[in-house]
Amino acid sequence: MAHTANMYNPQVEAIREREFPMLRDTIYLDHAGTALYPKSLIERFASDMVCNLYGNPHSASVPSQRSTNRIDDARLRLLQLFHANPDDFDVVFVANATAGIKLVLEAFRDQPQGFSYLYHVDSHTSLVGIRECAQQHHCFASDSEVDEWIQGRSTKTPQAPAIPELFAYPAQSNMNGRRLPLEWCSRARLTGQIPNEATFTLLDAAAFVSTTPLDFRIADHAPDFTVLSLYKIFGFPDLGAVIIRKAAGHIFRHRRYFGGGTVDMVLCLKEQWHARKNDSLHDQLEDGTLPMHNIMALHAAMDVHHELFGPLERVSRHAMFLAKVLHEGLSSLRHANQSRVCHLYSPPKSYENPSAQGPIVAFNIRNSHGAWISNFEIERLASIKNIQLRTGGLCNPGGIASNLCLSPWEMKDNFSAGQRCGGEDDIFGGKPTGMIRVSLGACSTKSDVESFLGFIQEFFVDELSFSVGPASSTYRHGPKNGAFLVESLTIYPIKSCAGWKVPPGQEWEIRKEGLVWDREWCLVHQGSGVALSQKRYPKMALIRPMIDLERGCLRVRYCGEIPLSIKSPEVSVPLSADPSYFVGELPKSTSAKVCGDTVPAQRYSSNKISEFFSKVLGVDCQLARFPAAGGMSASVRHSKVHLQGISQIGSPGTPAANIGVPRPILLSNESPILVISRSSLNRLNEQIKASGGKAAEAEVFRANVVIAESLNSACGREKPYAEDEWQFVKIGEQLFELLGRCRRCQMICIDQQTAVKDEEPFVTLAKTRRFNGKVFFGQHACHVRLGDSRSRQAQYATVMVGDAVRPVCRGAEGC
Ligand SMILES: *Cc1c(COP(=O)(O)O)cnc(C)c1O
Repeated sequence: MAHTANMYNPQVEAIREREFPMLRDTIYLDHAGTALYPKSLIERFASDMVCNLYGNPHSASVPSQRSTNRIDDARLRLLQLFHANPDDFDVVFVANATAGIKLVLEAFRDQPQGFSYLYHVDSHTSLVGIRECAQQHHCFASDSEVDEWIQGRSTKTPQAPAIPELFAYPAQSNMNGRRLPLEWCSRARLTGQIPNEATFTLLDAAAFVSTTPLDFRIADHAPDFTVLSLYKIFGFPDLGAVIIRKAAGHIFRHRRYFGGGTVDMVLCLKEQWHARKNDSLHDQLEDGTLPMHNIMALHAAMDVHHELFGPLERVSRHAMFLAKVLHEGLSSLRHANQSRVCHLYSPPKSYENPSAQGPIVAFNIRNSHGAWISNFEIERLASIKNIQLRTGGLCNPGGIASNLCLSPWEMKDNFSAGQRCGGEDDIFGGKPTGMIRVSLGACSTKSDVESFLGFIQEFFVDELSFSVGPASSTYRHGPKNGAFLVESLTIYPIKSCAGWKVPPGQEWEIRKEGLVWDREWCLVHQGSGVALSQKRYPKMALIRPMIDLERGCLRVRYCGEIPLSIKSPEVSVPLSADPSYFVGELPKSTSAKVCGDTVPAQRYSSNKISEFFSKVLGVDCQLARFPAAGGMSASVRHSKVHLQGISQIGSPGTPAANIGVPRPILLSNESPILVISRSSLNRLNEQIKASGGKAAEAEVFRANVVIAESLNSACGREKPYAEDEWQFVKIGEQLFELLGRCRRCQMICIDQQTAVKDEEPFVTLAKTRRFNGKVFFGQHACHVRLGDSRSRQAQYATVMVGDAVRPVCRGAEGC
């Protein structure tokens, strides 16, 4: 393997000085996006154009013939670059790799019975899009899935529908430079006797060949279709190509469209008929005038590239050497507190092995608190320092999702919360939604890599030491000296239905609308669109939703007596807003009426779902979803709670700017979060029992957070209704503002286990907790985002059962 060893080419330094004057004050680290062209390439092309007259190849003149010859020669030279025999392969010129992919797609889409499409999860967006035209499609989630598929087919029974199959994958991921097995091309190919039963292979080599040659010497081992972006190898010209294995060329016979130059005769009047050219594949497939000057520039591009950098093998060794140095440099960076700066998306050893990795390094950066640094911010700083790199989703949707562990519901959630490709917000739920990509090429130098490492060191390595991790996580549990802790956390996914308790040990995210997934759905009357409430339909208490993050769905079970006409006591809907379940098309939405407000909502059109809810409740209703705040919803509801008697906000660090700002809520009645205290409830129940009534469960108050005094609290005495006096409260690491007491109605009299109404606890509450004719129990609250958005707690604000609750009292210091 000696010839594959990575080796720096020291001549590049001098070449850089001479040939790339445009790089004087820029560090260019996006060679996988576009390679750079050397000065002498442009000069040589210019002199070719200035000294020779080239005509449109369609005529017989000398200048025309000159063009034709130069184009034919360019085709041949391109095949030679890949050691491809012109007897076995043809080259079709296209605008870019994507156009090449679409040309192959056209042939398959026009097969009499369509085609079946298989693609690898690391595919570029342009490959993924093919699926929209296929009769059936499948995305392989891993390499081993592809291997199993290939192996499994030797025993495949032939009753499968006889439609051609297209298998596509990138030779190198444009996201992190990972290289995929080239031998899949020949192993996946099935050359059945009947052409319709064949499997064809499409190799996306756009990223791979930018630094590394492909070898098609053995035609049978080559892909059927290979697409390239030539500007990614040479920097210029802007041109793409498809290399077609002639043995697979028959698939194009079904391509229906024809353009100028691809037909010998066309009849339009009285008879509709045409005769295709059938001399060569490229004659049949190159619609319209070729980008001839671009094709002619290929001569200069190949000559100059070779003269400067030698064969592509050498470019590959050079770029891989640099990528390895960069990867090692980034992975060794540490903050002063010893935490890692970079999270890298390729294993360290891979850069030794060019069959597994190309010269690309993809990563994300964390600060010393463990929080992610926004890609947008990094790109902005880089551009100030004249560093050109690529960040974001990188046109590789599957690779990004699997490497960043983003499930479909999260991505759709992020989308509705406003995430867009290239947008400024790129961290959602404490996770990055993109990556930083640095790619190296023929003209990269050691000094590029050193400068980039210096840049990361300068801007992103925290020099000051302070402790993270263990210290803050012990702090998280059990109150140190605070008297209260979180006894339970409950969300109410479907408004007015039963609550679901967040399992202990699970961190639960808080957003400005409240706890995640709280009151995100509701049931609406099919006629009036009004949201149903337990007040009118007490049986809603028996509808028990649960959030199943593992399977990415909301599961709903009915715990009362199941009507005979219902087959299953359970239905589920995906957490991701799958449009196929909705009436109409997303994002067009209907509306629902919640507490008198008209809110945009999307109704689930599935009959099975509507029937389930309608039958258990005995009213024609539909499940509807409130689009998460941000991007999609035009009008967000706001909290109606008014601040009650809070005037002096003094101490520094109190988020004064937050006060009095309307708070967004989803479907909850009044405020984002409701907090009740176990001590207050105990006091209430003592009073109820004293008068012979039935004690109330905490559930009837439909709180999100139940706090309780810890056993080791100061003097063992409970402090009922202490929360009335609190202005702010810290729960774990998070600060909440208390907005005022929660006004109560008879709904608290519905037993949440049986849906049976009682008179308690309302009667006793009305006697003991009535102010100005209104009955109160519990406190409204909202989360306060602190200014320091660079801590992990700020990016991913969570609460957890057992978190310490530390009140901040009105006026006094500590309570
Ligand atoms: C760049 C790239 C493409 C798209 O190429 P275009 O020339 O922009 O059409 C497709 N796949 C991979 C792997 C790429 O790197």
